[in-house]
Amino acid sequence: MTKQVDPALLLIPSNTNSPKSTVKTLLTTEQLHHGVVQLGREINETYGDRPLTIIGVLTGSVVVLADLIRLLEMPLRVGVVQASSYRGTIRGDLVINSELMPDIRGRDVLLVDDIFDTGRTLVEVIAQMQALGPTSLRSAVLLRKKERQEVTMDPDFVVFDIPDEFVVGYGLDYNDAYRNLTYLATLEPDDLTDDFA
Ligand code: 5GP
Ligand code: MG
Repeated sequence: MTKQVDPALLLIPSNTNSPKSTVKTLLTTEQLHHGVVQLGREINETYGDRPLTIIGVLTGSVVVLADLIRLLEMPLRVGVVQASSYRGTIRGDLVINSELMPDIRGRDVLLVDDIFDTGRTLVEVIAQMQALGPTSLRSAVLLRKKERQEVTMDPDFVVFDIPDEFVVGYGLDYNDAYRNLTYLATLEPDDLTDDFA
C-alpha cells in the first residue's frame, strides 16, 4: 500500500541517480499548482481572444510550460528556444539555439522560463527574438531570485520570488537530475559538488 509522505521528509527517488542527496521542500506541488493557475488567469486576461505564440526556454521550462498551456484559452501556438549556460551550479557561456522556434514575425509572443536569476539569459533571448519582428513580446517566469539581478529589465509576469538558493524540481535540474520532482526543492550544499563526470 502506498503511504502519503511529506515531500520534505523524502529522500531523493532512485531515478535521480544521486541516492545520498537530501532535499528540502521550498514550494509544494500544491503551491506550484496554485501559482501556475494564477499565472494562466493573468495571461488570459492580458491577451483575451488574441492569438498567442508561447515560447518556452529549454530545458527548465518544459514542466511549467506543459501545465500553463492547458490553462490558456486563446488560439495558441507553442514553440521552444534553447538557452543553456549552466553545468551543475557553475555558469558557462550562454548558448542560444533558436532553430526549433516557429516564425514569430507579426505575432504576439510570450516567452516562458523557469527562473530569473541574474536575468542575463532572458535579456539575451529577448534581444534575439525582438530582432525577428514580433508584434509584442512579453516574458513570464515561474521563479525569481530577487536580490540577484544584474539587468534592468524585469519579466512581465513573475509567479514566485524565492531566496538565493540553488533550487531543483518542477523542471529545474542539477546536472540533469531532479527535473521530475513535482515540488521545488533546495539541495543541501554538500550535494552541490559540480564535479560532473
Ligand atoms: P540567469 O541568466 O537569469 O542568471 O539564469 C537563468 C537560467 O539559469 C535559468 O533558466 C536556469 O536554467 C538557470 N538557473 C538559475 N538559477 C538556478 C537554480 O537555482 N537552479 C537551477 N536548477 N537552475 C538555475
Ligand atoms: Mg534555463
